[in-house]
Amino acid sequence: MPSTVGHSLIGLTLGVACLVPRGLPTHWRDWLRANRGTLLATFIAANACDLDYVPGLLIGAPNYLHRWLGHTVLWAALAGFVVWLLWRRSAGRLPRWALPVLLAAAVSHILADYSDEDTRAPFGILALWPFSNEFMVSAQPLFWSLDKSSLAAVFSWHNIRTVAHEILLTLPPFLAVLFYKLRPMRHDAAPTN
Ligand SMILES: [Zn+2]
Repeated sequence: MPSTVGHSLIGLTLGVACLVPRGLPTHWRDWLRANRGTLLATFIAANACDLDYVPGLLIGAPNYLHRWLGHTVLWAALAGFVVWLLWRRSAGRLPRWALPVLLAAAVSHILADYSDEDTRAPFGILALWPFSNEFMVSAQPLFWSLDKSSLAAVFSWHNIRTVAHEILLTLPPFLAVLFYKLRPMRHDAAPTN
């Protein structure tokens, strides 16, 4: 399944595309400074499903509950909603599209993991639970599978190549959106939402 790097780039692409105004780099920097929660919220939403590592980490078996109920569209939507609630509580007024973008960022995690070349049984994720108990995985995987069988495996060449591959897939869309956002519109004096 994609690492935090791939999930984060997908979420940040959505966040930058939909929540960050278009403008000159100097305006953009000021805007980000005043709205730093925007990208943080999309980052957290995009990775929220992998919180299902936590119970396993506590008992020394990280994969114990990983890819089960924490990797369903239902859980992702709930996680996106909770991130939106927390963000709203801390920031007050949010961008108009904040909730749909956070939900999309959270559900993008499910789509990315579904598109993974899973090599460990049960193959895939319980994406549509409780409507289906089937573990689902794409027949045409986009992402390679990370080896997390041991600490040494986590830092193996296989995993470095796997992360490089997901960066190759997810960085270009992010850079394209960033480039578009950093080009001011005609008559742009300040960023607009
Ligand atoms: Zn995941």
